[in-house]
Amino acid sequence: MRFSELYAPTLKESPAEAEVISHKLLLRAGMIRKVAAGVYTFLPLGYRVIRKIEQIIREEMNRVGGQEILMPVIQPADVWKQTGRWDQYGPEMMRLEDRHGREFALGPTHEELVTALVMDELRSYRQLPLTLYQIQVKFRDEIRPRFGLMRGREFIMKDAYSFNANIEQLQASYSNMYDAYSRIFTRCGLNFRAIQAATGLIGGKVSQEFTVLAESGETTVLYCDACNYAASDEIATTRLPEPSTEAIKPSEVVDTPGVKSVTEVSTFLNVPETKIVKTLIYKYGAREIAAVLIRGDRDVNEEKLSALLGTTDFHLLAGIEWGDYPELVQGYVGPVGLKGARLIADNEISVMRNFVVGANKTGAHIISVNVGDDFQVQEWADVKLVKAGDRCPECDGTLLATRGIEVGQIFQLGTKYSDAFGATFVDEDGEVKPYIMGTYGIGVSRTAASAIEQHHDDNGIIWPISIAPYEVSVLVLNYDREEQKEIGDRIYGGLEERDIEALLDDRIESAGKKFADSDLVGFPLQVIVGARTIKSGNIEVKVRATGERMEFPLEQAVDKIAGTVIRMRESLKLEA
Ligand code: ATP
Ligand code: MG
Repeated sequence: MRFSELYAPTLKESPAEAEVISHKLLLRAGMIRKVAAGVYTFLPLGYRVIRKIEQIIREEMNRVGGQEILMPVIQPADVWKQTGRWDQYGPEMMRLEDRHGREFALGPTHEELVTALVMDELRSYRQLPLTLYQIQVKFRDEIRPRFGLMRGREFIMKDAYSFNANIEQLQASYSNMYDAYSRIFTRCGLNFRAIQAATGLIGGKVSQEFTVLAESGETTVLYCDACNYAASDEIATTRLPEPSTEAIKPSEVVDTPGVKSVTEVSTFLNVPETKIVKTLIYKYGAREIAAVLIRGDRDVNEEKLSALLGTTDFHLLAGIEWGDYPELVQGYVGPVGLKGARLIADNEISVMRNFVVGANKTGAHIISVNVGDDFQVQEWADVKLVKAGDRCPECDGTLLATRGIEVGQIFQLGTKYSDAFGATFVDEDGEVKPYIMGTYGIGVSRTAASAIEQHHDDNGIIWPISIAPYEVSVLVLNYDREEQKEIGDRIYGGLEERDIEALLDDRIESAGKKFADSDLVGFPLQVIVGARTIKSGNIEVKVRATGERMEFPLEQAVDKIAGTVIRMRESLKLEA
């Protein structure tokens, strides 16, 4: 491709609306343009990146036996009503009506549609396992579309679904997908980690997220400094501290006038926050109340609590709501003698001794409180948000925290969808059974953005060669000079012949602009043809990622550049 003919309007400044680096650079490098909030057009350079990521995904999906299909974006409401997700999905699902008043949605995901697709014709165990996948546009009316391609409303996803006859098949499909995902993100040149993840609205129990490690990520990843444990903070657990060996003391009510918060209590009574148990009052359902006991320095993990309460509809009791529950003394609630609430105790409290709690009386706390002696717990649970410094749940190590961008997620779903549809097959033993399903997504457009989050510098993008829009840019500094033009054309032609993807910068622009654009768009290798080339008979080549410069005699230029590109490609290649 010749730059003079390429539609790639680059920008010097980044538009004000862009907050994260990938969004800024995608706009500046002329790769995307905004159409509406969270909705973008891919320009030629941006679309080449997408196509390359898609190609890597296709190769790896096909390798594990996936078969590509294409389902529609628009989906009838009926299939969603069948599973109950028409109501559960809420405003994130974009709904519309046709001229006959029939309801439809723009697909945010395709579990319903794909189950309905196969259920009449996938009837025998002999046809299982089956994995279907597609690469297609999804629509989610995100409450806060932001960060460009990272959280769009319309975005490109690869979604795959496996239908299995039994748990062993499901586990094999899942493990194949795990391997495929690892290969995909490795081939894309990303530094990523597979972490244990929450399953949320989709359902199922076992799930892993593939996260690209980057500061701008929205996922907090907790990982062990000693073993392989890694989990999103939504579900991370920790090994409890060793039980306290303190002798149990008798409890005692003490006056704490006006002292309410954990920090205040800690200062006033001169006890560490880790010896205080706070009682958080949540309202859920119609008018039900849960009192959650947790160590004073901890936060409640609302994902875990949601799973426990069986609803996402809950909140901390606030403001005038306290008036509806006169038996609860705001600021001084505690577990001793507490009435009218479901008591849930975080399991960490079981190893604590002689702690401080609210006295259910204005201006008072109780010190030296102990479970069993002063109050009983029926419901122990893990409801804490695990943080850096906590102990690894699987070994003696310590957990560290980092940020990650979720680029993919794999789920062992089970029979949630097949049950809802009555989607069954006849097994070897003649019995009719529901398929056991798995679902597996990759954010294609988000993967492109994550690559930039991880690979950039002050001058622009540094594409891993496997997903770069072109592998080499040939900068002819003065294309209007016959000698330079001749050399540039020859190198460009030679590279094309060797299947090296090259972009010839033949624009009548300043050398400075050409260097700047090449760095900005992030081609892995820059070949520079200028007055110096003519004088020295050598061609200069710069590696974008390292800034390393090489010189090759002109007559060997094409071979040497092609050889360098092939070596760079190989660094991201995997064994077949
Ligand atoms: P998130 O937690 O970030 O909202 P999700 O868990 O809802 O994502 P999935 O349903 O697992 O997402 O979708 C599969 C993949 O699609 C995700 O791993 C992510 O890479 C991508 N994805 C999801 N939502 C968006 C979005 N709004 N914009 C771009 N990519 C997205
Ligand atoms: Mg997810």
